[in-house]
Amino acid sequence: MTNLLNAFPLASFIVGPEGYVVGANEQALVLFGRDIIGRTSVEVVRNPNVHDAIEHALAQKTRKQCDWNTTQATTDLVYHITASWIEAEDILVTFRDVTDIEQSLRARREFVTNVSHELKTPLTAMLGVLETLQLMGSSEPEAQQSFIGMMQQETQRMNRLVSDLLSLSSVQANERIRPSTPVDLCALLEETITSLQGLTLQSHSQLLFTPPKTASIILGDGDQLRQVAINLIENAIKYAGSGNILIGLSSMAYQPLLRCKGVKITVEDHGPGIAAIHIPRLTERFYRVDGHRSRNLGGTGLGLSIVKHIVSRHRGRMRIKSTLGCGSQFAIYLPAN
Ligand code: ADP
Repeated sequence: MTNLLNAFPLASFIVGPEGYVVGANEQALVLFGRDIIGRTSVEVVRNPNVHDAIEHALAQKTRKQCDWNTTQATTDLVYHITASWIEAEDILVTFRDVTDIEQSLRARREFVTNVSHELKTPLTAMLGVLETLQLMGSSEPEAQQSFIGMMQQETQRMNRLVSDLLSLSSVQANERIRPSTPVDLCALLEETITSLQGLTLQSHSQLLFTPPKTASIILGDGDQLRQVAINLIENAIKYAGSGNILIGLSSMAYQPLLRCKGVKITVEDHGPGIAAIHIPRLTERFYRVDGHRSRNLGGTGLGLSIVKHIVSRHRGRMRIKSTLGCGSQFAIYLPAN
């Protein structure tokens, strides 16, 4: 019997007709402890649903399934349990760990809720403006122009959101495929900085970049790495206000974080900084420190999440350092071989 149980890929034990555990495989001993044989199943799994499932399977000579939510150390776990009647009045109870599946289902539900909410806000605003325009007639051309301007802003906001969602999904789709085209990071940063100079005029900030003496060429995806640079520099311009924004690029023969030769790209601002409590969550989809401010500045809450996935595709790392009142530094480490 033990041999058969040990061949099962899931944690499993057998409960006899008196309710005592009469056999268990190695995974079940690891999960519930080495002393479960001879104890009642109610003692082993203290959960009424599991108990009911075993009772039902025994009484009806059938199979009954249920879910068991538990906590181990500080981790919430979900097991899918099957209690099956087997010969000799025994019940085979198997435990399938479905925590990862449950988590990804929850993440998917949250994502759909967030996207719907983000799209609903500009849509509601547009509907309101359209109704007002309809009632207004053609007698107030100036007010009409201003309402059309509002509609344009809201449409641009939806457009940015949809573009960011598409970028995120295309990055995620290719995340397992490591990019392999040589990319000159110095040229890429110089081009990106030139293309973003226009934005600095409004914020009175300055982008400062001193190119390194040696070329920094890595294997990567040029478009995606450009997106990383754009998102980080745009954030610095948006959130830091006036002041210098320092962009850095350096190579290291050995980068301890990556345990290989690497390059480091930094974007550093002297803006308001970010409180430590927010830093671990900044790369979550739709996480914003100040949602109102981000939306007013045209943010979608997806920029750093896109950066995280691109960096992960390049087998790199991202580190964020920030001090309230002093500024923030976003550092990207990428392998160079
Ligand atoms: P968003 O579209 O809102 O800018 P991001 O994912 O790019 O979304 O950034 C998430 C949040 O991180 C922002 O809403 C902002 O609160 C904060 N943040 C990002 N970069 C900076 C920065 N340089 N200075 C201060 N806060 C920042």
